[in-house]
Order: sequence, then structure tokens, then C-alpha cells
Amino acid sequence: NEIRCCTSSGCRASGSADVLKQLKASVAANGLNDTLTAVGVGCPGLCSAGPVVMSHPDGGMFGKVTAEQAKGIVAALSGGATDAQRIDPNQPFFRKQFRVVRATAGQIDPERIESYIAVGGYEGLYQALQKRPDEIVTDVTASGLRGRGGAGYPTGLKWATVEKMPPGQKYVICNGDEGDPGAFMDRSVMEDAPHQVLEGMAIAAYAVGANQGFIYVRAEYPLAIERLQAAITQATKAGLLGANIFQTPFEFKVEIRIGAGAFVCGEETALIASVQGLRGTPRPRPPYPAESGLWDRPTLINNVETFATIPAISRNGAAWFAAIGTDRSKGTKIFSLTGKVKNAGLVEVPMGTTLRAVVEELGGGTADGKAVKAVQTGGPSGGCIPASLLDTPIDYESLGKIGSIMGSGGMIVMDDTDRMPEVARFFMEFCADESCGKCVPCRVGTVQLHGLLTKLVERKATRHDLDTLVELCQLVRDTSLCGLGQSAPNPVLSTIRYFAAEYEALLQPEE
Ligand code: SF4
Repeated sequence: NEIRCCTSSGCRASGSADVLKQLKASVAANGLNDTLTAVGVGCPGLCSAGPVVMSHPDGGMFGKVTAEQAKGIVAALSGGATDAQRIDPNQPFFRKQFRVVRATAGQIDPERIESYIAVGGYEGLYQALQKRPDEIVTDVTASGLRGRGGAGYPTGLKWATVEKMPPGQKYVICNGDEGDPGAFMDRSVMEDAPHQVLEGMAIAAYAVGANQGFIYVRAEYPLAIERLQAAITQATKAGLLGANIFQTPFEFKVEIRIGAGAFVCGEETALIASVQGLRGTPRPRPPYPAESGLWDRPTLINNVETFATIPAISRNGAAWFAAIGTDRSKGTKIFSLTGKVKNAGLVEVPMGTTLRAVVEELGGGTADGKAVKAVQTGGPSGGCIPASLLDTPIDYESLGKIGSIMGSGGMIVMDDTDRMPEVARFFMEFCADESCGKCVPCRVGTVQLHGLLTKLVERKATRHDLDTLVELCQLVRDTSLCGLGQSAPNPVLSTIRYFAAEYEALLQPEE
């Protein structure tokens, strides 16, 4: 039997390291070492209830556990009493999820490779190595998986482009530069399942003919870096990275590159420049990295969640994965549910699940029972979706049609105390700060847009200013070099589209 304590960043921030220490001490003090083990596990998802402790196999779950309460929880397992707050493991937050990428979160110790192998880890790699590389690419294409970093580009198509490039040095890069405010899906996957990310990268490397991989992680994610580094060391020792993997000629090494936290380095060409030690600024495409990327060699870049999806596809088959989700958006997606929502944390649901189901059923609505006013998806590149559109299914096309994007998975819930022009200003300030300055429309435009939004929220703007705001949004969107500038106007345009009255109410008469 196990008594499990979440040791990922969310629970750690509320003291889970002390809770785990106390659980271990209490197991020993009660003479339970032969029957009960206290272990650290990855995030079970309900971050707002952290630190979370779970007993296995009976399914007991406790939230907001203090080190003092840890003693009582251990005692309760052998008939004693505990005043720790119980969490219902069958509540919709858990029951309505469908976990593919986060299947092992909350169940395995992310710091031990044995823990991952015990639940089928690296089997996907083993099975992939029994096939030809082009067969893997065909499988990934047939699965319908699309890039989880935000753009939704078909993963199989990207892999096929790199695979078809003439043999020679090729690279695989895992983009762990997650930077959207409120988004922490990739951080959790790297922290909770570092071996799953490595396994996905290794399958990809075999499929496209690469022997070197890099994981680009921002420096603000020290625990993810620590666990990935430990995982690389363990996998190399176990013969699952390095030369002759599974006694085949396949060789694959992985190194971590730490980013300094520039949002633009999540853009693939800027990321490549940063890995090369250059200033992280985007360059025009084509050529695409798949043809000419890292050190001008064919390079496959996918984000963390995309790679972490691959082992399950390899184990269960493309048809299994393609049966989950909608016609054009297959599989599941992880969202970090934050803002005014009651159950804040990580949820993984099949594509096509409605926003309402995520926010109201899994999320439990707002924390204080106020009405949901809007949901922001896609971070500074996304849009604010009004409550009237909560029945929209979550898939790439549907969200695009209503002026937002899937993005990487940030989902911020707002209530009627949130003022939309101020929300738009917040995101524009972020974009102006993070603009790399390489092209004029974004460098100058985001600052101008921020200035106009400030004038507006300070009730100093006229209708002419509002018209200029919209015109400038269109200009920045149409003429910026990379995604940061092209999508920076989205929060402004979507809030003007759905909450025009709030903007109108702030306008002053022309002089
Ligand atoms: Fe840099 Fe912005 Fe231009 Fe992108 S759009 S290259 S972030 S200035």
C-alpha cells in the first residue's frame, strides 16, 4: 500500500515537501514500514486543493494537508481519526477527465525510472523500434495528432517532411518554453512524466532519422529541469537513451538547454537561434526548420505535450487515438484552468468537450458562485469568449471561428467583476514587454496599442481613439513578422467584438 503526496510545483509551493517528510516519519513511527510506503508523486490535477495526499489502493484523497495533519492521515489508515479535509475522488473534476498524456500523474514517482517502467513506460519506444521509421510517421499521420503548442499543425506532416530530407545530421527539439500567463500544462508534464517526454522524443528521433535531441526549458521551471536531467541520466544508464537502444543500432542523446524566459523564444525559429547561443529572435519562414533548422540541418520541433502523447499512440495504435475527439481535432487536450474558477488546476479532456463542461462541471463554476462572464483561451494570442458561447466545443476550428484559439491550453475564467478593456490592456502590456523588437509593426504597434488602451481605461479616449485602436490592431496583425505580433491584437479584437458596450461606456465626447 502507498500513501502518496504530490511533489510537483503547485503542491510544493504550499508545503508538500514537509507533508511528505512527515508522512514518511509517521509511517516509520507507527511501525508500518512493511505494509505502507510514503511516496512523492506527480500532480493529480486539483492544484487549488494542494497539498494533496492520496492513499492507494483504497482511493482516499485529502486536500490542503498540513504537516501536522499528515500524522493523522497515516493513523486513519489503520483505523484512527483524521481532521484532514477529504476530497471526493469521484467528483466530476476527476470523473469527467480522459487522461492520455496525464494518465500516470498522481500515480508514479516522477523521479524514479522504475516507477515509469512499472506502468508500461518505454514500451511505446520498444514497439516503435520493431517498425520501419516511415511506418511510424504513417501511424502518427493516421492518428490525426496536431501540434499542441498552439498552431495545431498536423504532427505527422511535420515528421514526414523531416523524415524525407536526405540522410545526415538531423535534430529533434522539444519546446518547453511555455510562457502564456496562466498556463502550466507543459511544466506539469515535464515535472510529472519526464520519461514520457523523453520516450516521445526518442520515438520521433527514430522516425525522422535524428540522433540528437534538445529540450528547451525556461529557467523559471527549475523542478522540471531537475527532473528532466535526472530522467536523462537514468534512461541513459538503463540503455534507453544513448547508443544501441534496446540492442538496436538506433542511437539518441538528449541535452537540456535552459532559456532565459523570453516569451518569443517559444517561436520555433527564435528558439533555434537561442539553442545555438544566438539572440532569440524569429526569422522569416521559409525555410521551415523541418528543412533547415538547428545549425541549418533538418529539425523536428514539437512541444512537450505533443511528444508526451506519442508513447500512448505507439502502444495503443493510431486508430485508438483517432477514435478520441472530433473529426478534425483528435485525441485529448490538457488545460490549465485558472482565474475565478472553483477547481483550479489541470484537466485533460477529449477534444470536442464543450467549454461549459470544462468550466462548470469539471471546474465547478466560479469559486464564490458568481456568474461566469467570459473564458480566456490561448493566452496573449487568444481571445475572450463570452458566457453565451460556452457551449462551443473545444477544437481548433470551433475556437478559431469565435475569434479565439486553442493555444497551448491556458484557460482563464472571469466573472462580472472583470473589466474586459482592462483584461485586453493586461495582455497588450505583456506583448509590448515581450516583443523582441525585430520588426516595426510589433515593436512600435504593441506600445501604441497599450497606450490607447490605457487612455481608454483611464476614461480619456474618444471614438476616434477607439477607431484607431481597431485599425492599428488590424495593421499589427497583418504585418508583424512572427506569431507574437500577429496574434497580439486578438485579446483586444475579441473583447471589442463581444463586449463592445464596455468600451463604449468608457468613451469621452470629442472636443
Ligand atoms: Fe519580434 Fe514582434 Fe516582430 Fe515577432 S512580431 S519578430 S516578437 S518584433
